[in-house]
Amino acid sequence: MRQLIDGARVWDGTGAPPFPGKVLIDGERIAAVAPQAEAVAADGAERIDAAGMFLMPGLVEGHAHLSFVDTPRGTALGELPPEDHALLTMDAARRLLGAGFTSACSAAAAKIRLDVAVRDAINQGMTDGPRLLAASPELTVTGGLGDGRRLHLHQESFGVPVDGPDEMRRMARLCLREGVDTIKLNISGDFGTESAPADVAVMTDEEVAAGVATAHAIGRRAAAHARASASVKRALKHGVDIIYHCDFADEEALDQLEAAKDRVFTGPAIGLVVTRLERLRGDNTPLGRRQLERLKPLYEASCRTHNEMRRRGIRVVVGGDYGFADHPQGGNARDLEHFVKHFGFSASEALQAATRIGGQIMQRGHELGLVRAGCLADLLLVDGDPLNDVRILQDSKRLAFIMKGGVRYVACEGSPHVRRLH
Ligand SMILES: [Zn+2]
Repeated sequence: MRQLIDGARVWDGTGAPPFPGKVLIDGERIAAVAPQAEAVAADGAERIDAAGMFLMPGLVEGHAHLSFVDTPRGTALGELPPEDHALLTMDAARRLLGAGFTSACSAAAAKIRLDVAVRDAINQGMTDGPRLLAASPELTVTGGLGDGRRLHLHQESFGVPVDGPDEMRRMARLCLREGVDTIKLNISGDFGTESAPADVAVMTDEEVAAGVATAHAIGRRAAAHARASASVKRALKHGVDIIYHCDFADEEALDQLEAAKDRVFTGPAIGLVVTRLERLRGDNTPLGRRQLERLKPLYEASCRTHNEMRRRGIRVVVGGDYGFADHPQGGNARDLEHFVKHFGFSASEALQAATRIGGQIMQRGHELGLVRAGCLADLLLVDGDPLNDVRILQDSKRLAFIMKGGVRYVACEGSPHVRRLH
């Protein structure tokens, strides 16, 4: 099946300015991209009149947690039976596609097989959703981020605690056996985790080395939760491929990231931080004020770090820990606004982080994240100009269609779902 998208302003994801043009789709791929004045042989193609619209690559969520299903607490994820949890994860995948995201690189699943099962269901056409790279749960240490247990009370959360290199290797191998693409390691703690603060590297060198080597041994990748400067350096030292957050990275850590910039990806996941800050600013309880005191320095550090990363050309992807009750799935496009407002990105730079760089973190930079002949036809047709205001992408009514592999979808009005157009 051939489709000709005719007359849109085409923004190709490279950072070059948009131009009036035609894009011919043949099956799941882009067959030709041409300026409007040029002829394109499109006999028999369905013509889509896109005059006055903006055509761009589909968005890539670089830090997805599709199985974080908008619960108020991590341990509520542990209470969900796997069957229910899988259906809710499928639902989140449809919502993310409806928000304009045609690809997603998972930054951890809440149970070992959730990303894997949903990735495979999407690939087999059993359900709609973005192209998905599946991650393990957050492999953490006792007392680290994602360990929901108490001495008197066993509770599952979104993490799997492992201590020492042997436990790390065993759990990483198990997750790899079950089909994950990425092993996630919580090297630093986080705000709100008393026994593992955000600016401390709680996972040891030996544990990190074991986790990374286990993934690399069979050609898969390792990703890290790394807010503390020492955790960024530890991740780099042992070859972690994707280093999330990096908020407190000092000069030395930034130099090391810059030296590794052709190898590593980073992603701030600033969305959740901004959402929590907004909520805490209106909270006058002693607990709220204490949390605000802790979160504000982290936010400020993240802004400093990511302005600097942009300056140094370190690859940064969008994606902001969506999937909590106060920060639900589907709002992901707000991250682009955060990049512009808090990190000094131009609209074009933020859009490139969400498209071209996103294609690279999917390990498919040659065929994803660009509007170019030969690439997969993952496209957004937008009513408005995101280069003028990236916030337009937050309104799914402005997405005339979302195309994934040549198939057109629209977001359903009043519900967070997508529907195929043909
Ligand atoms: Zn996360």
